[in-house]
Amino acid sequence: AAKDGGRGRFHFYSDNLHSAAEERASLEEALRDAIANGSFELHYQPVVNAADSNIAGFEALLRWNHPAKGWLSPDKFIPVAEEAGLILAIGSWVIRTACADLARWPEDVRCAVNVSPLQFSDPQLPSIITNALAAAQINPSRLELEITESVFLGDDAGTDAMFTALKRIGVRLALDDFGTGYSSLGYLKRAPFDKIKIDQSFVRGATQAGSRNGAIITSITSLAKSLGMDTTAEGVETLDELELVRNLGCSHVQGYIYSKAVPFDAALGYIIDGPAMRASGFRSARPPR
Ligand code: C2E
Ligand code: MG
Ligand code: MG
Ligand code: MG
Repeated sequence: AAKDGGRGRFHFYSDNLHSAAEERASLEEALRDAIANGSFELHYQPVVNAADSNIAGFEALLRWNHPAKGWLSPDKFIPVAEEAGLILAIGSWVIRTACADLARWPEDVRCAVNVSPLQFSDPQLPSIITNALAAAQINPSRLELEITESVFLGDDAGTDAMFTALKRIGVRLALDDFGTGYSSLGYLKRAPFDKIKIDQSFVRGATQAGSRNGAIITSITSLAKSLGMDTTAEGVETLDELELVRNLGCSHVQGYIYSKAVPFDAALGYIIDGPAMRASGFRSARPPR
């Protein structure tokens, strides 16, 4: 019986492995066609000034309309794109599209794009960015690159050279998901970040009694301030969380309390009219006409 059970289990696992590999292969195939088919879209989530509730800019978040599965989360397909060597092509498309969209927003509105560690180690990245900025004729300081700490696990000389090249172009640099990785202070010393994004895991639960998250957020914001960096609290969902992160010194706020990521036209609507969530103190970057 034990033997039968073992065989049965083996059979079961083998089926699963088979279908997981097949699923990945078909996902990869669909990804290869996605740029050409126009099935990628950038959606934009507002980044709001803590001080005056105006929109400082947006974070571009990639959305993929899979031919059979519908809209897929980037957490599902970005890792596949990275392994399949497709992330460089997708990443260039993201940068070009975000720059083209930026050109249609007011000058004082910024846009952040997420950059995968594999893009960061691509020697072509500076020229991809320079070309996209030139094609859209936008000021480099309006583009912010969100980078995670994992870029520091790569080759040191290459990483430092990339930071220098990007700063020379004049784009802004943000350290994304801060607090989830090694969070080494050495990284803050080594790289010329303009902003630290405090991961939503610190915001979540920060309003509960006895939580240490508030103390951690306070130390990150005061460190950032003394280094001349901005701080964005990510994933703010409730009014209590909004009030807390403002009081703890975050310069910017992002989260469902204001809006999820929305298509370009809706983002433009936020700039012009302010979003539906005025009750929470959200105001437009422009006075309504
Ligand atoms: P991220 O850069 O840390 O982006 C923040 C994620 O948190 C987004 O998920 C956003 O929709 C979500 N979020 C924002 N506010 C809230 C909130 O109040 N509550 C909750 N629960 N979630 C919130 P999304 O769009 O699914 O993206 C997931 C990750 O995929 C991103 O994390 C980023 O690492 C990656 N990603 C997205 N777009 C791109 C891209 O164009 N290129 C690359 N390389 N990665 C991307
Ligand atoms: Mg990000
Ligand atoms: Mg993040
Ligand atoms: Mg993330």
